[in-house]
Amino acid sequence: MGHSNKKFYRILLDSLYRSGIYNAAAPFTRGEGAIFTLHQVCPKAVPAFSPNSILKVTPDFLEETIITVLQQGYDVITLDEMTERLKTGQQGKPYVVFTFDDGYRDNKTHAVPLFEKYKIPMTIYIVSDYSSHKGELWWLALEEIIASHSSIMDPLNEGAKLASATAAEKYAAFETIYWRIRHGDQQEQRRIIRRMATEHDYDIDELTRREIMNWEELRELSKNEYVNFAAHTKSHYAMAHLTEEEARAEVMAGIEVMQKELGTAPAHFSYPYGDCQSAGRRDFQLMKELGLKTAVTTRKGVLHSAHKDHMMALPRISLNGEYQENRYIKLFLSGLPFLLRNGGRTLNVN
Ligand SMILES: [Zn+2]
Repeated sequence: MGHSNKKFYRILLDSLYRSGIYNAAAPFTRGEGAIFTLHQVCPKAVPAFSPNSILKVTPDFLEETIITVLQQGYDVITLDEMTERLKTGQQGKPYVVFTFDDGYRDNKTHAVPLFEKYKIPMTIYIVSDYSSHKGELWWLALEEIIASHSSIMDPLNEGAKLASATAAEKYAAFETIYWRIRHGDQQEQRRIIRRMATEHDYDIDELTRREIMNWEELRELSKNEYVNFAAHTKSHYAMAHLTEEEARAEVMAGIEVMQKELGTAPAHFSYPYGDCQSAGRRDFQLMKELGLKTAVTTRKGVLHSAHKDHMMALPRISLNGEYQENRYIKLFLSGLPFLLRNGGRTLNVN
Protein backbone atom coordinates (compact mmCIF):
# COMPACT_ATOMS: atom_id res chain seq x y z
CA MET A 1 0.00 0.00 0.00
CA GLY A 2 1.30 3.47 -0.84
CA HIS A 3 1.68 6.11 1.82
CA SER A 4 -1.53 8.03 1.07
CA ASN A 5 -3.45 4.78 0.68
CA LYS A 6 -2.26 3.71 4.10
CA LYS A 7 -3.30 7.02 5.57
CA PHE A 8 -6.72 6.71 4.00
CA TYR A 9 -7.09 3.13 5.23
CA ARG A 10 -6.28 4.19 8.79
CA ILE A 11 -8.82 7.03 8.65
CA LEU A 12 -11.38 4.56 7.34
CA LEU A 13 -10.60 2.12 10.15
CA ASP A 14 -10.76 4.80 12.82
CA SER A 15 -14.09 6.12 11.63
CA LEU A 16 -15.51 2.62 11.34
CA TYR A 17 -14.41 2.01 14.90
CA ARG A 18 -15.87 5.25 16.23
CA SER A 19 -19.17 4.66 14.44
CA GLY A 20 -19.58 1.34 16.23
CA ILE A 21 -21.15 0.01 13.04
CA TYR A 22 -18.70 -2.88 13.01
CA ASN A 23 -20.21 -4.14 16.25
CA ALA A 24 -23.70 -4.29 14.81
CA ALA A 25 -22.41 -5.72 11.53
CA ALA A 26 -20.14 -8.35 13.10
CA PRO A 27 -22.71 -11.15 13.31
CA PHE A 28 -23.18 -10.81 9.54
CA THR A 29 -19.65 -9.96 8.44
CA ARG A 30 -17.29 -11.79 10.75
CA GLY A 31 -17.75 -15.19 9.11
CA GLU A 32 -16.67 -18.39 10.82
CA GLY A 33 -13.30 -17.29 12.02
CA ALA A 34 -9.97 -15.76 11.09
CA ILE A 35 -6.31 -16.63 10.65
CA PHE A 36 -3.81 -14.10 12.01
CA THR A 37 -0.46 -13.59 10.25
CA LEU A 38 2.55 -12.65 12.34
CA HIS A 39 6.26 -12.55 11.63
CA GLN A 40 8.68 -11.22 14.25
CA VAL A 41 7.80 -10.58 17.88
CA CYS A 42 10.24 -8.21 19.52
CA PRO A 43 10.09 -5.86 22.49
CA LYS A 44 12.62 -3.42 21.02
CA ALA A 45 11.69 0.19 20.34
CA VAL A 46 11.27 0.88 16.64
CA PRO A 47 14.06 3.10 15.24
CA ALA A 48 13.37 6.06 12.92
CA PHE A 49 14.29 3.95 9.90
CA SER A 50 12.33 0.73 10.17
CA PRO A 51 10.93 -0.26 6.77
CA ASN A 52 10.03 -3.78 7.90
CA SER A 53 8.19 -2.66 11.04
CA ILE A 54 4.97 -3.89 9.46
CA LEU A 55 6.39 -7.39 10.07
CA LYS A 56 7.03 -6.86 13.78
CA VAL A 57 4.82 -6.65 16.86
CA THR A 58 5.71 -6.37 20.53
CA PRO A 59 5.05 -9.22 22.99
CA ASP A 60 2.73 -6.84 24.86
CA PHE A 61 0.59 -6.30 21.80
CA LEU A 62 0.50 -10.02 21.09
CA GLU A 63 -0.66 -10.72 24.63
CA GLU A 64 -3.26 -7.97 24.42
CA THR A 65 -4.53 -9.56 21.21
CA ILE A 66 -4.76 -12.99 22.79
CA ILE A 67 -6.70 -11.56 25.73
CA THR A 68 -9.06 -9.66 23.44
CA VAL A 69 -9.72 -12.72 21.31
CA LEU A 70 -10.47 -14.88 24.33
CA GLN A 71 -12.63 -12.21 25.97
CA GLN A 72 -14.66 -11.86 22.77
CA GLY A 73 -15.50 -15.54 23.04
CA TYR A 74 -13.35 -16.88 20.21
CA ASP A 75 -11.88 -20.37 20.28
CA VAL A 76 -8.17 -20.41 19.47
CA ILE A 77 -7.58 -23.55 17.39
CA THR A 78 -5.04 -25.33 15.16
CA LEU A 79 -5.07 -25.42 11.36
CA ASP A 80 -6.19 -29.05 11.56
CA GLU A 81 -9.18 -28.14 13.70
CA MET A 82 -9.97 -25.21 11.41
CA THR A 83 -9.90 -27.53 8.39
CA GLU A 84 -12.29 -29.85 10.16
CA ARG A 85 -14.69 -27.08 11.10
CA LEU A 86 -14.71 -25.57 7.61
CA LYS A 87 -15.16 -28.94 5.91
CA THR A 88 -17.97 -30.14 8.14
CA GLY A 89 -19.69 -26.76 8.20
CA GLN A 90 -19.84 -27.07 11.96
CA GLN A 91 -21.63 -24.12 13.52
CA GLY A 92 -20.12 -23.13 16.80
CA LYS A 93 -18.15 -20.38 18.42
CA PRO A 94 -16.12 -18.22 16.05
CA TYR A 95 -12.45 -19.10 16.02
CA VAL A 96 -8.98 -17.69 15.50
CA VAL A 97 -5.79 -19.39 14.29
CA PHE A 98 -2.43 -17.77 15.11
CA THR A 99 0.25 -18.27 12.43
CA PHE A 100 3.85 -17.07 12.28
CA ASP A 101 5.81 -16.99 9.00
CA ASP A 102 9.52 -17.69 8.38
CA GLY A 103 10.66 -19.25 11.69
CA TYR A 104 12.16 -16.29 13.56
CA ARG A 105 14.00 -17.11 16.76
CA ASP A 106 12.13 -14.36 18.61
CA ASN A 107 8.97 -16.47 18.21
CA LYS A 108 10.53 -18.96 20.61
CA THR A 109 11.60 -16.27 23.06
CA HIS A 110 8.61 -13.94 22.97
CA ALA A 111 5.60 -15.75 21.49
CA VAL A 112 5.76 -19.37 22.67
CA PRO A 113 5.67 -18.42 26.40
CA LEU A 114 2.41 -16.53 25.80
CA PHE A 115 0.79 -19.48 24.03
CA GLU A 116 1.88 -21.70 26.92
CA LYS A 117 0.50 -19.21 29.42
CA TYR A 118 -2.94 -19.15 27.79
CA LYS A 119 -2.78 -22.83 26.74
CA ILE A 120 -3.60 -22.13 23.12
CA PRO A 121 -1.99 -23.37 19.86
CA MET A 122 0.18 -21.53 17.36
CA THR A 123 1.70 -22.53 14.01
CA ILE A 124 5.07 -21.58 12.56
CA TYR A 125 5.64 -21.76 8.79
CA ILE A 126 9.20 -22.92 8.09
CA VAL A 127 11.47 -22.00 5.15
CA SER A 128 13.80 -25.00 4.96
CA ASP A 129 16.82 -23.10 3.63
CA TYR A 130 16.51 -20.43 6.34
CA SER A 131 16.31 -23.04 9.09
CA SER A 132 19.38 -24.71 7.55
CA HIS A 133 20.96 -21.25 7.88
CA LYS A 134 21.28 -20.88 4.11
CA GLY A 135 19.61 -18.55 1.65
CA GLU A 136 18.90 -14.85 1.94
CA LEU A 137 16.56 -12.89 4.23
CA TRP A 138 16.97 -10.24 1.58
CA TRP A 139 14.43 -7.66 2.83
CA LEU A 140 16.01 -7.59 6.30
CA ALA A 141 19.53 -7.54 4.84
CA LEU A 142 18.55 -4.58 2.68
CA GLU A 143 17.25 -2.76 5.76
CA GLU A 144 20.40 -3.40 7.80
CA ILE A 145 22.77 -2.44 4.98
CA ILE A 146 20.93 0.84 4.42
CA ALA A 147 20.59 1.51 8.17
CA SER A 148 24.35 1.42 8.69
CA HIS A 149 25.50 3.37 5.61
CA SER A 150 25.11 7.00 4.62
CA SER A 151 25.33 6.12 0.96
CA ILE A 152 24.86 2.81 -0.82
CA MET A 153 25.46 1.32 -4.25
CA ASP A 154 22.54 1.41 -6.65
CA PRO A 155 22.46 -2.27 -7.61
CA LEU A 156 20.58 -1.66 -10.84
CA ASN A 157 22.59 1.30 -11.97
CA GLU A 158 26.24 0.39 -12.44
CA GLY A 159 28.55 2.79 -10.60
CA ALA A 160 25.72 4.98 -9.23
CA LYS A 161 25.12 5.66 -5.54
CA LEU A 162 21.96 6.28 -3.55
CA ALA A 163 22.06 8.71 -0.62
CA SER A 164 21.08 7.06 2.67
CA ALA A 165 22.18 9.48 5.40
CA THR A 166 18.86 10.68 6.82
CA ALA A 167 15.86 8.53 7.71
CA ALA A 168 14.00 10.00 4.72
CA GLU A 169 16.86 9.13 2.36
CA LYS A 170 17.09 5.66 3.84
CA TYR A 171 13.37 5.10 3.25
CA ALA A 172 13.65 6.36 -0.31
CA ALA A 173 16.63 4.10 -1.03
CA PHE A 174 14.88 1.11 0.53
CA GLU A 175 11.66 1.64 -1.42
CA THR A 176 13.54 2.08 -4.69
CA ILE A 177 15.55 -1.10 -4.37
CA TYR A 178 12.89 -3.19 -2.63
CA TRP A 179 10.22 -2.78 -5.28
CA ARG A 180 12.66 -3.18 -8.15
CA ILE A 181 13.84 -6.57 -6.92
CA ARG A 182 10.78 -7.97 -5.13
CA HIS A 183 9.08 -9.16 -8.29
CA GLY A 184 10.64 -10.87 -11.27
CA ASP A 185 13.73 -13.06 -11.47
CA GLN A 186 14.20 -14.44 -7.97
CA GLN A 187 17.73 -15.70 -8.46
CA GLU A 188 18.78 -12.32 -9.77
CA GLN A 189 17.17 -10.77 -6.66
CA ARG A 190 19.37 -12.94 -4.45
CA ARG A 191 22.50 -12.20 -6.55
CA ILE A 192 21.80 -8.48 -6.17
CA ILE A 193 21.45 -8.62 -2.39
CA ARG A 194 24.66 -10.69 -2.09
CA ARG A 195 26.49 -8.20 -4.30
CA MET A 196 25.30 -5.35 -2.07
CA ALA A 197 26.34 -7.26 1.04
CA THR A 198 29.85 -7.85 -0.32
CA GLU A 199 30.19 -4.25 -1.48
CA HIS A 200 29.21 -2.93 1.96
CA ASP A 201 31.08 -5.50 4.02
CA TYR A 202 27.87 -6.93 5.45
CA ASP A 203 27.55 -10.57 6.56
CA ILE A 204 24.21 -11.75 5.18
CA ASP A 205 24.70 -15.32 6.46
CA GLU A 206 25.20 -14.02 9.99
CA LEU A 207 21.78 -12.36 9.69
CA THR A 208 20.09 -15.71 9.00
CA ARG A 209 22.00 -17.43 11.82
CA ARG A 210 21.03 -14.59 14.18
CA GLU A 211 17.32 -14.33 13.32
CA ILE A 212 16.14 -17.82 12.33
CA MET A 213 15.77 -20.95 14.46
CA ASN A 214 17.89 -23.90 13.35
CA TRP A 215 16.64 -27.50 13.15
CA GLU A 216 17.95 -28.35 16.58
CA GLU A 217 15.85 -25.56 18.09
CA LEU A 218 12.84 -26.58 16.01
CA ARG A 219 13.14 -30.21 17.13
CA GLU A 220 13.20 -28.98 20.73
CA LEU A 221 10.14 -26.78 20.09
CA SER A 222 8.28 -29.62 18.41
CA LYS A 223 7.99 -31.27 21.83
CA ASN A 224 5.87 -28.31 22.94
CA GLU A 225 2.20 -29.26 22.78
CA TYR A 226 1.16 -25.74 21.77
CA VAL A 227 3.55 -25.38 18.82
CA ASN A 228 2.83 -26.71 15.32
CA PHE A 229 4.94 -26.47 12.18
CA ALA A 230 3.89 -26.01 8.58
CA ALA A 231 5.69 -25.43 5.27
CA HIS A 232 6.76 -22.16 3.63
CA THR A 233 8.92 -23.53 0.70
CA LYS A 234 12.65 -24.08 0.43
CA SER A 235 13.97 -20.67 -0.66
CA HIS A 236 11.14 -18.20 -0.03
CA TYR A 237 10.62 -17.34 -3.70
CA ALA A 238 7.34 -15.80 -4.86
CA MET A 239 5.79 -18.82 -6.55
CA ALA A 240 3.92 -16.95 -9.26
CA HIS A 241 7.25 -15.80 -10.71
CA LEU A 242 8.51 -19.38 -11.08
CA THR A 243 7.65 -21.92 -13.77
CA GLU A 244 5.21 -24.56 -12.60
CA GLU A 245 8.02 -27.07 -12.39
CA GLU A 246 10.18 -24.74 -10.31
CA ALA A 247 7.27 -23.89 -8.03
CA ARG A 248 6.52 -27.56 -7.43
CA ALA A 249 10.19 -28.29 -6.71
CA GLU A 250 10.35 -25.38 -4.22
CA VAL A 251 7.35 -26.69 -2.29
CA MET A 252 8.41 -30.35 -2.39
CA ALA A 253 11.99 -29.65 -1.35
CA GLY A 254 10.83 -27.58 1.63
CA ILE A 255 8.47 -30.34 2.75
CA GLU A 256 11.09 -33.09 2.30
CA VAL A 257 13.70 -31.31 4.38
CA MET A 258 11.13 -30.67 7.13
CA GLN A 259 10.17 -34.32 7.14
CA LYS A 260 13.81 -35.39 7.33
CA GLU A 261 14.70 -32.92 10.09
CA LEU A 262 11.54 -32.98 12.19
CA GLY A 263 10.26 -36.49 11.54
CA THR A 264 6.84 -35.53 10.19
CA ALA A 265 5.72 -34.07 6.89
CA PRO A 266 3.84 -30.78 7.22
CA ALA A 267 0.21 -30.82 6.06
CA HIS A 268 -0.30 -27.07 5.81
CA PHE A 269 1.39 -24.41 3.71
CA SER A 270 1.93 -20.66 3.46
CA TYR A 271 2.78 -18.92 0.14
CA PRO A 272 5.90 -16.72 0.41
CA TYR A 273 4.76 -13.04 0.41
CA GLY A 274 1.27 -14.41 -0.28
CA ASP A 275 -0.14 -11.39 -2.10
CA CYS A 276 -2.01 -11.58 -5.42
CA GLN A 277 1.15 -11.04 -7.44
CA SER A 278 3.13 -13.72 -5.58
CA ALA A 279 0.60 -16.55 -5.55
CA GLY A 280 -2.30 -17.13 -7.91
CA ARG A 281 -4.64 -19.67 -9.39
CA ARG A 282 -1.95 -21.92 -10.84
CA ASP A 283 -0.30 -22.12 -7.41
CA PHE A 284 -3.61 -22.86 -5.66
CA GLN A 285 -4.16 -25.72 -8.11
CA LEU A 286 -0.62 -26.96 -7.58
CA MET A 287 -1.02 -27.13 -3.80
CA LYS A 288 -4.21 -29.09 -4.26
CA GLU A 289 -2.41 -31.58 -6.49
CA LEU A 290 0.34 -31.92 -3.92
CA GLY A 291 -2.25 -32.95 -1.36
CA LEU A 292 -1.83 -30.19 1.22
CA LYS A 293 -4.72 -29.70 3.65
CA THR A 294 -4.66 -25.91 3.52
CA ALA A 295 -2.59 -23.12 2.02
CA VAL A 296 -2.75 -19.54 3.29
CA THR A 297 -2.18 -16.28 1.43
CA THR A 298 -1.78 -12.76 2.75
CA ARG A 299 -4.92 -11.63 0.96
CA LYS A 300 -6.93 -9.89 3.63
CA GLY A 301 -10.12 -11.28 5.02
CA VAL A 302 -11.95 -13.52 7.46
CA LEU A 303 -13.05 -17.11 6.83
CA HIS A 304 -16.50 -17.82 5.47
CA SER A 305 -18.15 -21.21 5.02
CA ALA A 306 -17.66 -20.89 1.24
CA HIS A 307 -13.89 -21.11 1.81
CA LYS A 308 -14.34 -24.86 2.21
CA ASP A 309 -14.12 -25.02 -1.59
CA HIS A 310 -11.01 -22.81 -1.63
CA MET A 311 -8.79 -24.36 1.01
CA MET A 312 -5.65 -23.52 -1.01
CA ALA A 313 -6.45 -19.80 -1.13
CA LEU A 314 -7.30 -18.89 2.44
CA PRO A 315 -7.15 -15.24 3.47
CA ARG A 316 -5.47 -14.01 6.64
CA ILE A 317 -5.43 -10.91 8.81
CA SER A 318 -2.01 -9.36 9.37
CA LEU A 319 -1.30 -8.47 12.99
CA ASN A 320 1.25 -5.90 12.12
CA GLY A 321 3.40 -3.25 13.68
CA GLU A 322 1.42 -0.41 12.17
CA TYR A 323 -1.86 -1.31 13.82
CA GLN A 324 -0.79 -2.26 17.33
CA GLU A 325 -3.90 -1.10 19.06
CA ASN A 326 -6.69 -3.09 20.59
CA ARG A 327 -9.43 -1.32 18.65
CA TYR A 328 -8.00 -2.54 15.34
CA ILE A 329 -8.17 -6.14 16.54
CA LYS A 330 -11.89 -5.90 17.26
CA LEU A 331 -12.43 -4.13 13.98
CA PHE A 332 -10.45 -6.69 11.95
CA LEU A 333 -12.26 -9.58 13.60
CA SER A 334 -15.60 -8.06 12.60
CA GLY A 335 -14.55 -8.67 8.98
CA LEU A 336 -16.14 -5.38 7.93
CA PRO A 337 -12.97 -3.57 6.72
CA PHE A 338 -12.13 -6.45 4.35
CA LEU A 339 -15.66 -6.70 3.06
CA LEU A 340 -15.55 -3.00 2.21
CA ARG A 341 -12.12 -3.36 0.65
CA ASN A 342 -13.14 -6.34 -1.47
CA GLY A 343 -16.16 -4.47 -2.77
CA GLY A 344 -18.62 -6.52 -0.74
CA ARG A 345 -17.23 -9.88 -1.85
CA THR A 346 -16.53 -12.38 0.91
CA LEU A 347 -14.28 -14.49 -1.38
CA ASN A 348 -11.10 -13.31 -3.09
CA VAL A 349 -9.71 -16.54 -4.48
CA ASN A 350 -8.81 -16.03 -8.14
ZN1 LIG B 1 7.56 -15.48 4.58
